[in-house]
Amino acid sequence: MLKYVRNELFVEKVAVSNLAKKYNTPLYIYSQDKLEANFNAYKTGFKGVDSIICYAMKANSNYAILKLLAKLGAGADIVSGGELYRALKAGINPRKIVYSGVGKTSKEIEFALKSDILMFNIESFEELEQINKIAGKLKKKARISFRVNPNVDAHTHKYITTGKEGNKFGIRYEDAFDIYVKASKMKNIEIVGVDSHIGSQILDVTPFKLAAKKISALIDKLESNGMKIKYIDIGGGLGIKYAAADKPQKPIDLRKMVMSVYSKYKDKTIIVEPGRAIVGDAGILVGEVLYRKTSGPKNFIITNLAMNDLIRPALYESYHSVIPVKKSSKKQQVADVVGPVCESGDFIAKDRTLPIFEQGEFIVAECAGAYGRAMASQYNSRPRGAEVLVKGSKVKVIRKAETIEDLMSKEIK
Ligand SMILES: *Cc1c(COP(=O)(O)O)cnc(C)c1O
Repeated sequence: MLKYVRNELFVEKVAVSNLAKKYNTPLYIYSQDKLEANFNAYKTGFKGVDSIICYAMKANSNYAILKLLAKLGAGADIVSGGELYRALKAGINPRKIVYSGVGKTSKEIEFALKSDILMFNIESFEELEQINKIAGKLKKKARISFRVNPNVDAHTHKYITTGKEGNKFGIRYEDAFDIYVKASKMKNIEIVGVDSHIGSQILDVTPFKLAAKKISALIDKLESNGMKIKYIDIGGGLGIKYAAADKPQKPIDLRKMVMSVYSKYKDKTIIVEPGRAIVGDAGILVGEVLYRKTSGPKNFIITNLAMNDLIRPALYESYHSVIPVKKSSKKQQVADVVGPVCESGDFIAKDRTLPIFEQGEFIVAECAGAYGRAMASQYNSRPRGAEVLVKGSKVKVIRKAETIEDLMSKEIK
């Protein structure tokens, strides 16, 4: 999606510098072709497998992006009532919506039951009781699966690994059978699935097979005890190429890995919940250089891109490649790319060999489509920039930039 034409950076057929001038920075730019290609890689990767691709919309819940994915047949993996609202508005079929998350509120559970979503992925016994109670009140049966923690190591950052024992997610593997038995006795609960999600930015798909083997043993035990499992939710988590050394495997590799275990089941639907792998490398964040300075041995490039625009480096020490919008043969230096926010964690990149950028020059943080704008805040009273979607030479604003007045719009004056 990104290429230099005569040293000018383009997203599809549009020059990034033109967009930056027109819409100002910080600016998120997405490529529609890339988004579609990423989603279609799942569709073709899982072709022939009875499956639903439930886009994990917490990665990026922009309405235009949801609508686009809905049109391609995507379901959604949601984690809040707000996400359910967005998914329904965007036209995602409620029977393709699965609801994950450890802390669903009563209000959210009621909303999801009334919307007739496909299933709840339950993460604790008390949540099960609560869903049973609310479903009873509404005279409904809640379709559920439990998120089971298979205790495998996904070999990823400690903040984004979720399938190991001792983190807040899921039900312990050893406790799973008992909780299914309890659920099977509840009047307003219908057991339909088993779910696991082992982490994020997983580059090698082997841990998915380890998880599948354990989940499959559980399914067999549940079914031999009279419980019927229709859905196997394998979670999301495939990684993308943030750095040159990253070698992410593809949806087809994931399919081969999990189906080596699950192909013996002819009556079950596989649910996949990709987030990052759909939107991550389809989006960039554009900013501009404000000042340069040195402090002792360190060089700093101070930009208008801050942790409130893109928090991933501060939150997970994650890597975003930084590139110029105009390529030149400038001298290079090792520098940190930082923002104006008053926190030492406010950086986009550390110790990078970069051209000595000029003041006012546009720069790009690559692979910012997932967990970028979705996690952006107004910290330091910084209005958030616009988002645009590019298709060929067409540009659509999919979210307007906030104004300084917007910052106080909900405050009592
Ligand atoms: C975050 C999340 C996903 C998506 O993870 P990615 O790494 O973005 O693919 C899928 N399922 C659940 C339950 C999640 O919490």
